[in-house]
Amino acid sequence: MTRQMDLPHLGEALGTDFFSVREQFTDEQWARFLAVRRFVDREVLPVAGDYWERAEVPWPLIRRLPELGVVGESITGHGAAAMSPMAAGLVHMELHRGDGSLGTFLGVHAGLAMQSIDMCGSEEQKARWLPPMATLDQIGAFALTEPEHGSDSVALETTARREGHTWVLDGSKRWIGNGTLADLVVVWARDVADGRVKGFVVETPAEGYTASVITGKVSLRSVWQADIELRGVRVPEENRLQEAHSFADTARVLATTRSSCAWMALGHATAGYETALAYLRERRQFGKPLVSFQIVQERLVRMLAALTGMQLYCMQIGRLAEAGRLSPTVAGLAKMHNTRTAREVLAEARDLMGGNGILLQNHVIRHMADIEAIHTFEGTETVQTLIVGRDITGISAFT
Ligand SMILES: Cc1cc2nc3c(=O)[nH]c(=O)nc-3n(C[C@H](O)[C@H](O)[C@H](O)COP(=O)(O)OP(=O)(O)OC[C@H]3O[C@@H](n4cnc5c(N)ncnc54)[C@H](O)[C@@H]3O)c2cc1C
Repeated sequence: MTRQMDLPHLGEALGTDFFSVREQFTDEQWARFLAVRRFVDREVLPVAGDYWERAEVPWPLIRRLPELGVVGESITGHGAAAMSPMAAGLVHMELHRGDGSLGTFLGVHAGLAMQSIDMCGSEEQKARWLPPMATLDQIGAFALTEPEHGSDSVALETTARREGHTWVLDGSKRWIGNGTLADLVVVWARDVADGRVKGFVVETPAEGYTASVITGKVSLRSVWQADIELRGVRVPEENRLQEAHSFADTARVLATTRSSCAWMALGHATAGYETALAYLRERRQFGKPLVSFQIVQERLVRMLAALTGMQLYCMQIGRLAEAGRLSPTVAGLAKMHNTRTAREVLAEARDLMGGNGILLQNHVIRHMADIEAIHTFEGTETVQTLIVGRDITGISAFT
């Protein structure tokens, strides 16, 4: 054992599956899962910490995503991945087991931007934008959140004013993933004529569109979010998403990505549990491996129990999605449960690894920082709780 505890394979998959959940995977699900798992272990883990420390976008890893056939969620046609919902969830899980920034890049590009176009665009719009997005020749962003409207994005203030065949967009957006890099930005704005929220694809560069990276971020450092200003940005009617008629359509997109967040959280928690277990098998104190102490075993077993619960949540939301029966409320409960549980598992993992737990080379501290953003975006834990609370009581506590 070296002075630094030289464990180069720390973080690689151990295949934790205590309840034999994976026996239920189909061949398609296994194939996607294993392809991404190999990619993560061989290509992502050796470099993720360095990209994170430098807050640098990992372009070589991003360019591998179309080659792996994982860009486009469950969208069919247009060169998209056409994954089953369960396979798409497994891809999110495995990418986040390796690197939350890489996974979030894909979540924004495919989960939010491509799915907005697929769910709310006309056939002509899908044929125009989805093929270059599936190959990552064009990068997407999804601009909903505003400086004054996060959890209450339903009250967004960005305006869309129609002038003949053109729409004029004015407003500010905040926290927009890929906002400085994207070629196609799905902007949600309120039509001043009827007060309804509509979706517009802004093709950049566009006059009046400016984006600046939010710096000083200590979560998901190697994926960039932006502050965006829209000052009289003109888009043709052909760029208005033809099937987005109100905020309910925006919410339809968010409901699908909410379940992805539950899978992402499972990936981060898996990394925490497996890294801690591998480390504790090697680390000796009081003349014995740390895993031989009862309290350490008890803490590991509690982490395993939490992880297994998260796996079962994901398996069931995957099944419901495959049957077309996943409700936004059920997805909300899964996100709420899994991001909260992942935070707990990661905090345990970090502590169990002692001082080495705060080193980037050992991964856990990065996952611990990254889960914070996932806990917050696409509806905070509290907001998911209020949504489920409304469902079970019949009373809305937030509108
Ligand atoms: C890394 C990152 C990436 C993101 N990417 C995108 C993106 O690509 N596109 C996009 O549009 N947005 C994006 N977001 C924005 C994200 O969706 C919002 O941050 C999120 O919805 C929360 O909004 P907020 O940060 O303004 O927090 P706030 O809404 O100000 O909430 C602050 C706190 O108050 C609580 N709270 C709010 N309302 C209530 C209530 N009624 N009762 C009790 N408590 C309440 C919240 O739970 C939270 O704890 C991203 C955010 C982050 C951090």
